[in-house]
Amino acid sequence: MSAKIILVVCDGLGDRPIKDIGFRTPLEASRKPSMDFIAANGVCGIMDPIAPGVRPGSAPAHLAIFGYNPYEYYKGRGVFEALGIGIDVKPGDLTFRVNLATVDDNLMVIDRRAGRIGGDDSRILFQLLDEELRIPGVELRFYPGVEHRGVLVIRGEGLSWLVSDTDPERDGAPILVCKPLDGSVEAKRTAELVNRISMDAYRILSKAEVNRRRFSEGKLQANALLIRGASFYEPIPRVTERYGLKACCIAGGPLYKGVARYVGMDVIDVKGATGTYESDFKAKVDACVKALESYDLIYLHFKATDLAGEDGNYRRKIELIERIDDALYMIIDKVEDYVIALTADHSTPCSIRTHSADPVPIAIAGPDVRVDDIGRFEERVCSKGGLGRIRGLDLMPILLDIVNLTHKYGA
Ligand code: ZN
Repeated sequence: MSAKIILVVCDGLGDRPIKDIGFRTPLEASRKPSMDFIAANGVCGIMDPIAPGVRPGSAPAHLAIFGYNPYEYYKGRGVFEALGIGIDVKPGDLTFRVNLATVDDNLMVIDRRAGRIGGDDSRILFQLLDEELRIPGVELRFYPGVEHRGVLVIRGEGLSWLVSDTDPERDGAPILVCKPLDGSVEAKRTAELVNRISMDAYRILSKAEVNRRRFSEGKLQANALLIRGASFYEPIPRVTERYGLKACCIAGGPLYKGVARYVGMDVIDVKGATGTYESDFKAKVDACVKALESYDLIYLHFKATDLAGEDGNYRRKIELIERIDDALYMIIDKVEDYVIALTADHSTPCSIRTHSADPVPIAIAGPDVRVDDIGRFEERVCSKGGLGRIRGLDLMPILLDIVNLTHKYGA
């Protein structure tokens, strides 16, 4: 009996019935023979990633699915972005997600993404901040990410992650003042620090040569920094230590790579895996098959289904489900030797264009699995399966038990 597990997570896959497609969900309206094969040869159910009625963020949902109680281990989002782009964060580092943005003279946000600036311009501006923005008593580091995004790391004593964002989250609103979220001296000091960084960044970016050039070319200037997602990094017990499994992650989006690194998984970079609509799903599944040679637990993530949900585009969601299904064809014969779990980190219904608390379908196939009568991987059908309704935190114990890695409780 092999102890190898493939955990496939399609982001935001769950949905609600849509009138235009006969009150079916995108999953119910898709042609998806591979997913249905896993359901037919496995045990099915539905899963509340965090708990019934809780709308999960992707990061806490993934922590739960990996067996880490999010209420204990989730300390803000910034650290996942930092780990996701490969920054060597140290214990005690305070990390933030940052955006290069365009503001007017009154610090009103014109474009939160500075026209989705990226490439060399973005890299040069983050490097400029990294070199020129200095505040006595703390070490500041700036790192470019994808497009307009980046990461800020503050290293020093007496800091807190309980501070608010400066990002107004919409254009046409002013940059917000960062505020402490509790009464501690640390939060107050951190908020003052963030506000100073916000002003200094505006001063430095406004004078940047890159922005002068962008202005002359009629492009939006990236003259401000929006700071959000404060997060503390503390090392936590690794998957390998907790479960005795060597684990890896195959994902495109930095957040998912970051959560995986946080729990101690190796990240396998796959060419063409971008975490976007255009991501190369087949290259990822191919990498998953190769990873079976050296890893026991392979976490395979597809982001695009969530993007379609957030765009409210159910036709696109159906098309993506079918494309992912087509790629998964390469692993379905593995159910004879390996355990394959197929699920989602939350629902992103096209009707509301954001995450909902609707439970997600789950199917687990593999040798020794008590196969039930369910033959389709869909929200409503799976709810009648042998797994019943579980929580995200139940998933790892169930998988570990199927591969006989659990210990007896009591005598
Ligand atoms: Zn998600």
